[in-house]
Amino acid sequence: MQPSPSIGQTLLLVEDNEDNRIIYSTVLRHVGYDVVEAVDGRQALALARSANPDLILMDISIPEIDGWEVTRILREDPATKDIPIIALTAHALADDRERAQAVGFTSYLAKPVEPRAVVAEVQRWIGAGVRQAGAAGMPPAAG
Ligand code: MN
Repeated sequence: MQPSPSIGQTLLLVEDNEDNRIIYSTVLRHVGYDVVEAVDGRQALALARSANPDLILMDISIPEIDGWEVTRILREDPATKDIPIIALTAHALADDRERAQAVGFTSYLAKPVEPRAVVAEVQRWIGAGVRQAGAAGMPPAAG
């Protein structure tokens, strides 16, 4: 039996920039998600496998193993291939958007990303955090 989709959801936030990591994790926790944090590609792979996240926010430019390669590896692993992964990249190039789709990212946010835009994109894929469950939420994104 599936748990309620709005209760106890865990996000893996992969972001090497400390300021961004604090901002995004604070906002995401505030709206009710559990957040685990990784600062490089090796931590990201380890936590994707051990923390059982419902969704991953993946900075592309991270130390050790970049976000492209981490995502490619996760997509080849039956245990992690279906986890929604949202790319966070400083590059808004059309090439990056196409590459993000090819590698298997679920969606794509170009930095700078406002915290509320991050929350909206997470909600689009896995629903509201526990503290928002039952409250009047945002309508689903069109299209
Ligand atoms: Mn980075």
